[in-house]
Amino acid sequence: MPKLIDKFNREINYIRLSVTEHCNYRCFYCRDAEHIPNCKREDILSYEDIERIVRIFAQLGVSKIRLTGGEPLLRRGIVKIAQLISNIDGIKDVPLSTNGHLLEKFAGKLFDNGVNRVNLSIDSLIPERFNEITRGGDVNEVIKGIDAAITSGMHPIKINMVVMRGVNDNEIESMIDFAIEKGVDIRFIETMPIGSAGIEATSQHYSEKDILNRVNKHLKNRITPMTSSKTDGPAKNFKIDHSNSTVGVISAVSSHFCQTCNRVRITAKGDLILCLGQEDSISLKDAVRSDRSDDEIKKMIIEAINKKPEKHEFNSSIDNISNRQMAEIGG
Ligand code: SAM
Repeated sequence: MPKLIDKFNREINYIRLSVTEHCNYRCFYCRDAEHIPNCKREDILSYEDIERIVRIFAQLGVSKIRLTGGEPLLRRGIVKIAQLISNIDGIKDVPLSTNGHLLEKFAGKLFDNGVNRVNLSIDSLIPERFNEITRGGDVNEVIKGIDAAITSGMHPIKINMVVMRGVNDNEIESMIDFAIEKGVDIRFIETMPIGSAGIEATSQHYSEKDILNRVNKHLKNRITPMTSSKTDGPAKNFKIDHSNSTVGVISAVSSHFCQTCNRVRITAKGDLILCLGQEDSISLKDAVRSDRSDDEIKKMIIEAINKKPEKHEFNSSIDNISNRQMAEIGG
């Protein structure tokens, strides 16, 4: 089978597929307060578009499709999308990234239709603080979502917490205890300077090193480094001794993880984004809605992948990504 190898010899086998720009939460570091997605139904990839695009990528060696958004559970037909994707030859892994608010309703159906694992974003366990960060969210609904995911059979279940100094950094320890109690994994994430909301939030940056110090102190060094696999992406992971949980830090800013980057992103409007930290994109929606054959589209994709930049420039230049909204590119 042909593979998608870029000019830095990285194999691209993972797509983060955003299925909607809409979200029921408005996390202040993710989306500008006044930003409202501007998209009509026909602007968004249809089931047929998604199926064709994923099938073409699968024939090029992609095996993992993460469903993200916006909030993917707001997309009408999300269960059908999961089913279509997981039935495509070559697709072996269909994880979901969600804020969890609607997961109680969907977890079982999604698992039955191919979603094997889930990442839940939860930045605070304190209801008032959670409500402030998300501009309206309800942490109790998210906890019900986690419980439903556990019951559904999805595995592993990971909690993602964006750590922000003076906002929620005093919850690192309680979040670890919560994850251990539930038997799920926890990942702490550094804030990334994407869009004006993200750029503003990086003033509250909390570094990988500081997070790891706190983790070690809290767990009294009872953590064992896990050998990272190629699919771990940017996370440094540890097994928490005498528990079913793991802890990790995703440090997009402190550590450059780009040399092992194996992913590209597709927005709800069908733009293929080659790197989170660069503006380049091509329209796959236009391609699949034109009279191009699958082979012609494959050629287009191979050419685009060849232009994937070597690395993001979060530490030196963020001007070229200041217009992006993380909520539009799926995290
Ligand atoms: N709504 C879903 C969710 O909450 O997971 C999927 C989309 S959301 C954009 C995906 C992830 O991106 C979330 O874990 C969120 O915390 C993270 N994210 C958004 N903006 C970020 C930023 N500026 N820095 C780091 N992570 C960010």
